[in-house]
Amino acid sequence: MKFCSTCGTMCNIDHKKRCYICPKCGAEEPINDAPVIQRTKQNGEKIVVIGKKEQNLRTTPQVKANCPKCGNDKAYWWMVQTRGIDESSTQFYRCTKCGYTWRDYS
Ligand SMILES: [Zn+2]
Ligand SMILES: [Zn+2]
Repeated sequence: MKFCSTCGTMCNIDHKKRCYICPKCGAEEPINDAPVIQRTKQNGEKIVVIGKKEQNLRTTPQVKANCPKCGNDKAYWWMVQTRGIDESSTQFYRCTKCGYTWRDYS
């Protein structure tokens, strides 16, 4: 639930604009629930490698994987669909220790 910061009225959610909108004074405020990992799906699939901003990957599952950089055996794991019918989805890993990110085509 969200109240207008201008007049205190309970705001409605405008799903099209993805913002809160006050029915009384019309003030708009963006909804701050952006996902941790953003996947862009325009003109086919786009691989989005998690950047420095999104290093807090608490919602991403951890698996056993050997980091090629530091040898740590735990990594965060996520999957991204690549383009093409015969291509399977690409797995990405990010080392829990050093943050190195690599992909696995197998
Ligand atoms: Zn208002
Ligand atoms: Zn590592």
